[in-house]
Amino acid sequence: MSDVFMNTYGRLPVTFARGEGSWLFDTVGKRYLDFASGIAVNCLGHNHPALAKAISDQASKCLHLCNYYMSDTSLAFAERLVSACTPGGMKNVFLANSGAEANEGACKIARKYSLKKYGTGRHTIVTLRGSFHGRTITTLSATGQDKFHKDFGPFTQGFTFIPPGDIDALDKALDGKTVAGFFLETVQGESGIRPQSPEYIEAAARLCAERDILLMFDEIQCGVGRTGTFLAFEQHKFDGKPVKADIVTLAKGLAGGVPVGAVLAGEKAAGVFAAGDHGSTFGGNPLAAAAGLAVLETVDNPGFLAEITRKGEKIINAIRAWNHPSVQEVRGRGLMIGVDIDRDAWPILEAAIARAGDGLLILSGGPKTLRFLPPYTIGDDEIEQGLGIVRELLGG
Ligand code: PLP
Repeated sequence: MSDVFMNTYGRLPVTFARGEGSWLFDTVGKRYLDFASGIAVNCLGHNHPALAKAISDQASKCLHLCNYYMSDTSLAFAERLVSACTPGGMKNVFLANSGAEANEGACKIARKYSLKKYGTGRHTIVTLRGSFHGRTITTLSATGQDKFHKDFGPFTQGFTFIPPGDIDALDKALDGKTVAGFFLETVQGESGIRPQSPEYIEAAARLCAERDILLMFDEIQCGVGRTGTFLAFEQHKFDGKPVKADIVTLAKGLAGGVPVGAVLAGEKAAGVFAAGDHGSTFGGNPLAAAAGLAVLETVDNPGFLAEITRKGEKIINAIRAWNHPSVQEVRGRGLMIGVDIDRDAWPILEAAIARAGDGLLILSGGPKTLRFLPPYTIGDDEIEQGLGIVRELLGG
């Protein structure tokens, strides 16, 4: 493989030329069924007509404006996005380019909120072990996995990690004197599709509300409809009512493959940033916004979201019904599914690419976990074909 790129990725031996719907085609014409969506990015599949048209129409109008001016497309996208996130309590948005950049913005908001209200020393952001929040120095500092930290210190101060699911540890960690925010993935993605329990989310919402600590959800992988609701935490309750967040971050699928990130703020956090506090040259430019608007017009629709739930259940039920001795656990919500197996996942990913006939693109989520993040538009027949290939590769 070419050594023109820095050696940052363990790549599989395939080079793609184009895609169509749930399929990608390599440079020699072999086709591969996509159960990965570019890690939860191509949520409408490849060459989706509405998305492709929105991008091409916008390209002939205006690609970019600097932040001295407002773009009609960026405004329409921001309004549509805040409206999609209103059930989660969101009031306004800052647009960025990536998940890590969105998370950087989220940490800045939490710190300034706390500083202005309580003074210095109350700046810690608590995150979970097994979390993944990005690759910049600050978002690595927020990421609760030691393997990503090796060789890159010193890190940004003021992050502490607690084990997921442990409400006592949460209660202890969220002290009202030093902590500004609690930042968590509703469903941990990179560590193998691990949803937080309803009790844990409810406890987090209660403790954060009581102690005026910002409740911050990183929905970069699990948001934008991936779990069957626009935001994954919408499925959780606090005091019998849907949970409301103080800050939510989104990226990945938000513009279906065009880079964009978003930090959304609820009532408490919406007024924290003042002019000059934050910025991003490309963040939410008209091209990304046009793509994002096309995604929202398709995804933010109850019927479409219900189909994501149905397709996800179909996959989980089918795998459980195999009763395959190599399958140890199947977890997930909507089209975000992790399958623990009795052996290393990577050789299965390789075999899925190399097999004769159609290939299959799947991801790993830890050494022995297969991770499926298919496009929302995947058909039932394609789901069946993909599962047939997984079953074949597991053998037995
Ligand atoms: N947060 C979560 C939950 C993620 O899954 C990711 C990427 O995998 C990120 C943040 C970082 O996003 P990006 O790679 O766009 O910076």
